[in-house]
Amino acid sequence: MHRRQFLNKLATTIAPFSLASLMFPTLSLAQSDRPRITDIKVHRMRTLGETGIMESAWAPGRPYMRRIGGGRVTEILTDQGISGIAPGMSSSGINRMKQLLVGQDPFDNETLGHQMRYTNGAANNWRDVGCVEIALWDIVGKVAGQPLYKLWGAQKDKVPAYASMIQLSTPEERAEQAVRIKEAGWQGMKIRLHHLDMREDIRTIQLVREAAGDDFTIMTDANQAQSSGIWQPGIQWDYKRALDTARALNDFDVYWLEEPLRRYDYEGLAELNRATDITLAGGENNQGVQEFVEMLEKQVYDILQPEILVTEGVQGLRAVAALALAHHKLVIPHHGGGQLGTIAQLHMIGTWPHCPWVEIMNDPPISPYTNGFAIMENLPQVDSEGYMAMPQGPGLGVSINRDLIEDD
Ligand SMILES: [Mg+2]
Repeated sequence: MHRRQFLNKLATTIAPFSLASLMFPTLSLAQSDRPRITDIKVHRMRTLGETGIMESAWAPGRPYMRRIGGGRVTEILTDQGISGIAPGMSSSGINRMKQLLVGQDPFDNETLGHQMRYTNGAANNWRDVGCVEIALWDIVGKVAGQPLYKLWGAQKDKVPAYASMIQLSTPEERAEQAVRIKEAGWQGMKIRLHHLDMREDIRTIQLVREAAGDDFTIMTDANQAQSSGIWQPGIQWDYKRALDTARALNDFDVYWLEEPLRRYDYEGLAELNRATDITLAGGENNQGVQEFVEMLEKQVYDILQPEILVTEGVQGLRAVAALALAHHKLVIPHHGGGQLGTIAQLHMIGTWPHCPWVEIMNDPPISPYTNGFAIMENLPQVDSEGYMAMPQGPGLGVSINRDLIEDD
């Protein structure tokens, strides 16, 4: 057959099909077939047990019972039987979100995100925006049949998890726990620096380093950036305390010092960064991408720690990650709430070359990470080498145990 005859025959054969349907067979949904949002629900999840009372280091005087499971979950439903899940949004925000979202295509993330930011951002409710965006992306991933980190462009399939401590322990207790954490496979842990006497903070780090050895990563957190914000009792650092601590930590190969000064003391933080060798980290309390732009311009932190439920949701976190990459900084998000927010961030971390860790709140035996993860049926786990793998199911890749839903 001559070449021209062959091409004519080929053209006749494929004529009934559009070129797009041949090239993109899974993306040929007609407009009328596209999924539409039908409802938004917030479920209360049953608790499975209590593990004990614990006081967070950053909230002295406010101990509370730690529970397995519990919390709330947002669910966005569609007319195709696929729903997306996310951390629980506020009850007061549901009606406004329904007005925006019902009847819309969950794939129209940019449009819907812009509208949510316009209305909820003005109400300063970034948490609701983050919750809804996570659920929308979960739907998109499920329709596409792909885990989100693959859909967004995968960079890695697993990441080391660091155990983020919650309470303030004696130096001896913390050193003993570091050994147990390391034996369980974890490669690193973050320790709170909240003792009234700075020497106790430093002695804690010294004992942990001696007990866990040199092949264990130690992060530290002073939690001083709640202010200006909600009132945080306990030790308040000034510049001298921050400087003295940063210099003392140098003797123990500490990876980073987190939130050593008040949230908006950008000048003080930049000065501390210039005056010390230690890596400074922070940003979990900063709202909106614009604050990260300003912090980068002022050389405040070396590691950015945005939080999906604080910093403008999925779009916000991805924007901050792009900013960090452009400024040659690392981005290691705040824990994301310890349940579905953490999972959403895990998928984002899977796409970022400049994110070497995932923060997992894990202070056993009273507050292990499995407490929060217990609402999930196919929960990711930290393996024997300290890694957490990106879930492989479509969307977030995890589902909630519907037997735990206790709605009225
Ligand atoms: Mg922190």
